Amino acid sequence: MAINRNILESIGDTPIVEIKQIDTGLCRLFVKLENQNPGGSIKDRIGLTMIEAAEREGKIKPGGTLIEATAGNTGLALALVAAQKGYKLILVVPDKMSQDKVFHLKALGAEVRLTRSDVNKGHPAYYQDIAERLAREIPNSFYVNQFQNPANPLAHETWTGPEIWAQMGHDLDAVVVGVGSGGTLTGLGRFFKRVNPKIEMVLADPVGSVLTELVKTGQMTEAGSWLVEGIGEDFVPDNCDLSLVRAAYPISDKESFFAARDLLRTEGILGGSSTGTLFAAALKYCREQTTPKRVLTFIPDTGNKYLSKMYNDYWMIDQGLLERPREGNLKDLIS
Ligand code: PMP
Repeated sequence: MAINRNILESIGDTPIVEIKQIDTGLCRLFVKLENQNPGGSIKDRIGLTMIEAAEREGKIKPGGTLIEATAGNTGLALALVAAQKGYKLILVVPDKMSQDKVFHLKALGAEVRLTRSDVNKGHPAYYQDIAERLAREIPNSFYVNQFQNPANPLAHETWTGPEIWAQMGHDLDAVVVGVGSGGTLTGLGRFFKRVNPKIEMVLADPVGSVLTELVKTGQMTEAGSWLVEGIGEDFVPDNCDLSLVRAAYPISDKESFFAARDLLRTEGILGGSSTGTLFAAALKYCREQTTPKRVLTFIPDTGNKYLSKMYNDYWMIDQGLLERPREGNLKDLIS
């Protein structure tokens, strides 16, 4: 393997691994390890492509400031890219986000502006509205806005999609994805429709998100809440083209967390919470098929960030997702 000139060249070209220890019915199930990107998630790809597109279009000049409203993986990806390319980065972050995430972003050199979590769109303290306002006020700044930026789905249409197609030897029947911004769904959906329209895009959606019902009946329902991070919606982002989805599976937090924990124990793959949702939906899809199929899903981010959450039995018990043992002490359960 060639030596990369900088860390940004290490983004992408992630391995695909076949699931061998878990029952996948008549299907073969493959997972793409996006957790192996340098920033730890699939978002590194769009962090890079959204900034390079803005550079090409003259929307950002050397020494400029990038602005985004997120404490998630997109923030980490942008911090990585901004540091390498010499941009300033301001992230507007709702104050419910974990301190660890904020520390991580600051360590990468981002300026973090905390704002209230308890207000909605239209309120002056709403994090996305603050980001928009900052971009208007700060000269030579660019509001990245992954929910509307066309370079987000384009990254997956022109990069992730062709990469998968080549790795799978042009032989694939279904792809299981989650929706955060919708970039992965829309970009891959467009690419696979072009190369082979028989390939099914399958949605893995947290229970409480409005998307499954929209796919199945076209009805908008009231959103609930869920613990899985990075996916599930209470609205449909501009970058999310639901018409590309053929089947949708609602997955509970409990199913998601247990699926991620099983994946680690049996296959040795440390994924994040959305990994669990995708993997649980992929297994359901695989087990329902009556003919053999080749199915791919993702490990969108690393499980390192969730060691004190879903991988921690105490936390699982506190959430009511794991039963306290009747006999013996908790220590025995953990070891
Ligand atoms: N999983 C995780 C952990 C994420 O952070 C995201 C993005 N928020 C996704 C999945 C979904 O990706 P997309 O934004 O492309 O819909």
